[in-house]
Amino acid sequence: MANFPIEPFRIKVVEPIKKTTREEREQIIKDAKYNIFNIDSEKVYVDLLTDSGTGAMSDNQWAGMMLGDEAYANCRNWKNFERVLKDITGLKHIIPTHQGRAAETILFGSVVKEGMIVPNNNHFDTTFANIMECGGDPQNFVDEPGKDPEIIHPFKGNINIEKLDKFLAEKAHLVPLIMLTVTNNSGGGQPVSMENIRKVRELANKYNKPFFFDACRFAENAYFIKIREEGYENKSVKEIAQEMFSYVDGTTMSAKKDGMANMGGFVAVNDDQLSDKLKEKLILKEGFITYGGLAGRDLEALARGFEEVLQEDYLEYRIGQVRFLGELLDEYGIPYLKPTGGHAVYLDAKKFMDHIPQKYFPAQSLVVELYKHGGIRTVEIGSFMFAVPNKETGEIKFPDLELVRLALPRRVYTNSHIRYVAEVIKEIFGYRQQCKGMKIVAKGDTSLRHFVAELDYVE
Ligand SMILES: *Cc1c(COP(=O)(O)O)cnc(C)c1O
Repeated sequence: MANFPIEPFRIKVVEPIKKTTREEREQIIKDAKYNIFNIDSEKVYVDLLTDSGTGAMSDNQWAGMMLGDEAYANCRNWKNFERVLKDITGLKHIIPTHQGRAAETILFGSVVKEGMIVPNNNHFDTTFANIMECGGDPQNFVDEPGKDPEIIHPFKGNINIEKLDKFLAEKAHLVPLIMLTVTNNSGGGQPVSMENIRKVRELANKYNKPFFFDACRFAENAYFIKIREEGYENKSVKEIAQEMFSYVDGTTMSAKKDGMANMGGFVAVNDDQLSDKLKEKLILKEGFITYGGLAGRDLEALARGFEEVLQEDYLEYRIGQVRFLGELLDEYGIPYLKPTGGHAVYLDAKKFMDHIPQKYFPAQSLVVELYKHGGIRTVEIGSFMFAVPNKETGEIKFPDLELVRLALPRRVYTNSHIRYVAEVIKEIFGYRQQCKGMKIVAKGDTSLRHFVAELDYVE
């Protein structure tokens, strides 16, 4: 059969996207001060900035939007949302929020106190920041393969069980909960195995600690378990997801990912007392406990999205499309982080732009060139994002990796778009020596400078 992922849908509504000329884009990116966040969405041809809230909903979800019950309390869409999530997670209390970070604010605000430590495989930047905000210390325990961009390993999202055990033996009294991010977004969208999840459960029992998922991409993770872990090939993805959740005491989730809708999230727990605490905070910060910052129609789209995301032909296509982009890059000899994960391909800009030293932002130079040459918007995850001078000493610490993330929105781009993206990358790779390094000319001192800083080329 075909050696490319076939879309398990046909297209009923189209949204035109506009091609611009290279000349126009050179002016646009210059006016944007070479910061991709300043470009109007309408001036982008293929937008791979993020997979968060950028997916396309199905006809079934749009039909559900018309059935929105906008009553303040206990609307029927809430009932559907709660029923579907209880079925998948088996967790007792489902608490809706407007997106993932709101779920984190409510959870960590209730359990993290000054001086506490929260272990994770890799914290995502919002969990990191929310734990810090509560005076806590977020620490990463991803296993060794997850730190090496070259190694091929089926579960590079796994946490290092030995290290976690040692850490808990010393510091368990400071730990409010153990977290595991599935799939591991900050580590390249890499999955966690069921065996690893089970072992974290055993440690949680041993030290009597609650165990939580950051479950944004739980369905993509479950699909990887099905195709890569022994004993799961004949289980349905839904059964695998149910087993994953059977090991945890609670979860947070940004439903802008595997919720298949454009906005939403939730936190879920088994503990009655904790649930009461969370609901009190929810009412204060987000809204009543049956809508949590979402409209009834949003809850309906999500309830239907959580069912659609577990359909295996969808997941085969989804994971297949990301892999397809990786395979095209292999053909052209383009360096990227291997293997491809669930939602994105990460170009290795240190190798791609090996003539540009880290201090001149090789990955940002590639981000700019991708826009100039093909109208493709991506995001830098390298020195431009992380090598911020220390406020007191002025010292700069460069990150190990210089990456450009190509995140694929769900059900949005066809395989022709993917081929186009690969062709553009191939052409740039051919003339990469001509790409110049970049420097920051304004707004470079803040910790989240990649959103706001202004750049120019170094001569
Ligand atoms: C997106 C994301 C979040 C935060 O969710 P938002 O909806 O953007 O607030 C948290 N954790 C992970 C792993 C994510 O990918």
